[in-house]
Amino acid sequence: MTKNFDEIVTFIRTLYNKPEGFIALHEPCFMGNEKKYLAECIDTTFVSSVGPFVTRFEEMVATYTGAKHAIVCVNGTAALHMALMLVGVEANDEVITQPLTFIATANAISYTGAKPVFVDVDMDTLGMSPKSLSVFLEEFGELRDDGFCYNKETGRRISACVPMHTFGHPCRIDEIAAICKKYKIQLVEDAAESIGSTYKGKHTGTFGAVGILSFNGNKTITTGGGGMIITNNDDLGKRAKHLTTQAKLPHRWEFNHDAIGYNYRMPNINAALGVAQMEVIDRIIVSKRGIAAQYTEFFAANGIDFCNEPQDSISNYWLNSILLGSREERDRFLGYMNDNGIMSRPAWTLMNKLPMFEGSQTDYLKNAVLIAERLINLPSSVIS
Ligand SMILES: *Cc1c(COP(=O)(O)O)cnc(C)c1O
Repeated sequence: MTKNFDEIVTFIRTLYNKPEGFIALHEPCFMGNEKKYLAECIDTTFVSSVGPFVTRFEEMVATYTGAKHAIVCVNGTAALHMALMLVGVEANDEVITQPLTFIATANAISYTGAKPVFVDVDMDTLGMSPKSLSVFLEEFGELRDDGFCYNKETGRRISACVPMHTFGHPCRIDEIAAICKKYKIQLVEDAAESIGSTYKGKHTGTFGAVGILSFNGNKTITTGGGGMIITNNDDLGKRAKHLTTQAKLPHRWEFNHDAIGYNYRMPNINAALGVAQMEVIDRIIVSKRGIAAQYTEFFAANGIDFCNEPQDSISNYWLNSILLGSREERDRFLGYMNDNGIMSRPAWTLMNKLPMFEGSQTDYLKNAVLIAERLINLPSSVIS
């Protein structure tokens, strides 16, 4: 197998045209007007959350995703926190999500005072399994006269469901949306990793009440740190803007606020990067899909299980991933790659295994456990 590992090192070094030195997992790629727009912010002194790039960035993302409204946030985690508040998640509610996700998903749920519940993922999409969701709700979900779904086991209200499009691969979001509708559960999509990914021709993040995107430094496009709330609902869009700007009532000099608001609005300096990145996003996605195509061909020839985009989907292939035969093989592989200067890493520790979420209700999580034991992310930076 070590011979095989060595071939993978050679393949990745050839792919990135880097015979030696460190190869990162995902580096930002600035190939457009980034410097020019940043200089504009400084020259005009508009570096904070009021400035022309903020609205321009929102308009560009709305157009690109097909969402009616796009509202910037300081980061994806804040965007998700706000999204959950917008759909009415309250303290002591439950929110169903997947255990195979980045900590931000479970943290944002916790910020509202709600408890996460974890259901399994599908092997092919790596995202929430509609089958698991439906089996869980058949057993534990109870629609009451007040129009909400309750968990028969815990007595708590299940107010929202947060599927995540893992590593850019869309999950079966239309089936999940139908189940949520049946049980009157609000659908909030964590599309932090999936800008540019579509399911049945529709952009991820636009299937439920609200979706969120992230522009962290390691994501497909970056604003340094940043996030976006996307929604087709006029009222939610308006409230998102209001609540992320300290719920201040517009007035030329008075300071009045009609709710507990948040200082969540992205500064102009970050949005300047966002505008420049959105101008070249098509090139970025083409490059990423090209890299994935090369990985696909290489791993097919070598009999290794590469995670391809699922059916009915176009993936941005944010992070390319493979599944090895066992945890032991995975650990040997990680050691070998990292010793050879090629950054690779396992999937996240499952959320229900972390001390904060240990007591959470889960289903069998058969696929999530297998993926957490065997999956590896490989270098996926854009080649410009
Ligand atoms: C990146 C990410 C977020 C948001 O992260 P920020 O760093 O706060 O922008 C949320 N959920 C998932 C699944 C992510 O990968």
